[in-house]
Amino acid sequence: MPATATLSAPQKALQKMGLVRDIDLALHLPLRYEDETRIVKLRDAREGETVQFEGTVTDNHVAFRPRRQLVVTVDDGSDTCVLRFFSFYPSQQKALAVGNRVVVRGELKGGFMGWSMVHPSCRAAGGALPEALTPVYSTVASLPQAYLRKAVQSGLVRADLSETVPAELLPQLGLREAWTLRDALQFLHHPGPDVSLAALEDRSHPAWQRLKAEELLAQQLSQLESKRERDELRAPRLAAKAGGLHEQLLKALPFALTSAQRRVGEEIAADLGRPVPMHRLLQGDVGSGKTVVAALAAAVAIDPGWQCALMAPTEILAEQHFRKLIGWLEPLLTPRSLTVAWLTGGQKKKERTEMLERIASGEAALVVGTHAVIQEQVQFKRLALAIIDEQHRFGVAQRLALRGKMNEPGQEPHLLMMSATPIPRTLAMSYYADLDVSTLDELPPGRTPVITKVVADSRREEVVERIRSQLTEGRQVYWVCPLIEESEALDLTNATATHEALQAALPGVMVGLLHSRMPPAEKKAVMSLFAGAQMGVLVSTTVIEVGVDVPNASLMVIEHAERFGLSQLHQLRGRVGRGAAASACVLLYSPGENGRLGETARARLKAMAETNDGFEIARRDLEIRGPGEFLGARQSGAPLLRFADLATDTHLLQAARALAPLMLDRFPDDARRHVSRWLGGKSEYLKA
Ligand code: ADP
Ligand code: MG
Repeated sequence: MPATATLSAPQKALQKMGLVRDIDLALHLPLRYEDETRIVKLRDAREGETVQFEGTVTDNHVAFRPRRQLVVTVDDGSDTCVLRFFSFYPSQQKALAVGNRVVVRGELKGGFMGWSMVHPSCRAAGGALPEALTPVYSTVASLPQAYLRKAVQSGLVRADLSETVPAELLPQLGLREAWTLRDALQFLHHPGPDVSLAALEDRSHPAWQRLKAEELLAQQLSQLESKRERDELRAPRLAAKAGGLHEQLLKALPFALTSAQRRVGEEIAADLGRPVPMHRLLQGDVGSGKTVVAALAAAVAIDPGWQCALMAPTEILAEQHFRKLIGWLEPLLTPRSLTVAWLTGGQKKKERTEMLERIASGEAALVVGTHAVIQEQVQFKRLALAIIDEQHRFGVAQRLALRGKMNEPGQEPHLLMMSATPIPRTLAMSYYADLDVSTLDELPPGRTPVITKVVADSRREEVVERIRSQLTEGRQVYWVCPLIEESEALDLTNATATHEALQAALPGVMVGLLHSRMPPAEKKAVMSLFAGAQMGVLVSTTVIEVGVDVPNASLMVIEHAERFGLSQLHQLRGRVGRGAAASACVLLYSPGENGRLGETARARLKAMAETNDGFEIARRDLEIRGPGEFLGARQSGAPLLRFADLATDTHLLQAARALAPLMLDRFPDDARRHVSRWLGGKSEYLKA
């Protein structure tokens, strides 16, 4: 590989697309194909078809109306076709001189004046027709298709395509027909003209199946490997003692645990009791009570003198979310002269220094904060447990940094990740295969399901009426305005305008406003007025997305609901329905300029109206957005599945999952070769 400075533009583009090794090129499969194997007669062609025909140029002139263009007429003996070029070179003009025989390929348009094509591809007639379909690869502007085709072809010729899956394991890949990798690739790059394009397109063809099976196997192997590597690491064994902090906390709680919380607590306790680092995801719907589970785990770690770190993606989140947890733990820590430390980006230097000292000395048994927790200056004395809330909002590097915060070599802290967005089963089996998952599948008692209504913004008046009636019943109301990421100012105008309008419409009612630009003290004041029920309506941007817990609030209105993501809407809705009163969520939407809602926005609102179940929401979200977006930060820069589709290839996924441990045990060298072929240097990303 020459130094970057000497690379040509197409070479640079190849590198940028990750097409570096021969095998990368060989695995860059066509998006679609063009059939250049056939010449058709214009007489037999149909409008809209992409066809190739051969004929003689009968006219060639430059027209100037309606705009400058080269107009060429070609006669193939059965009919004529007019070719139009709005930009053209003199050389092209010459190649299409009257009397020349040419092969023309393009999309046929019909019409009053007969057949025409705009910017078809043309070449001199003669020369053999290709025998296979012509591959069309996904590419970028600086990488011409012809250049890429050649590069892929030479990659295909040079790459080592020897089998990595041992012959005796091959039947376990879940394939109907056993194609070799070499045959499958050869075929997919250059399929014969009589192959079913449908089978290629929907990737049901056996050659596609082979590639998908290989890809899924690589993913499974790589995750299994990282799981085993982690099992080699050491972590402190933590067990709850009778009469210890764990028991004290349980006694101090104002409620009894749900059976789901108890079960999940035991799963976590079992992990903590082993001398290898825990790597567990705790998933549970909004309001399912993850925080107390985290607090109990923290108690187990703190009791014998270790530290626990808790990280949340934003300051407000960290503060709101863990207030309760601290409220529970702090009274138990104080008698032991232990404290809770806060770390946030916006902290004053003096306070920060003090916190860092407490953490380094071990006086802070619990360290709560944002990304600030993983900064370099933060030195723990004895970190044993790291808890990450809303784990999907953190990147790989951040999780790795947190795991590196334990200062004994060869040791790592236990890691507990929490998420209110349950991972759909197929994703759990693929991208998260290296993760142990605990699920809170039960809500604490006394919750009432929230009724969700989708309402056009034009009916705002009725919604305000509804607010009035809730207020008369002594209930409280949230009104959420969207966060427009590109423009915080616009976002604020919107919230402010709504706030004013509601104040005017609801005389005698305290209507508060909360947004991200307010100073923290002001925010706190507004929050406590709402929590204390003096405030009837709280207008806010998404700051209440997490954290606020006001069981008396029974109505949530979400303005411009079409702008929110599905899981975000679901999280917001989780703020109501926390008390015994029947609760409702109104999704106000404003149709776009064409008077219609976009298709995905409509699908999101429909899903919200139809179900309260976080798992079902997550499943639909996956359907609407695809795994790429769903995975978000975890996968940033990491290889997503390129070929396999989790929705349709579940059987291949299951086969790969079953085969991976077998192959890793019995054929470790082949397994390594397989992973490196498919993932190259990228497998690191899957390990965080
Ligand atoms: P989430 O899973 O969304 O983080 P929280 O941990 O914030 O949920 O819990 C939601 C609410 O339910 C909190 O007010 C919490 O105190 C309460 N809660 C948690 N567990 C129970 C329980 N077993 N019984 C009653 N209330 C509970
Ligand atoms: Mg929570």
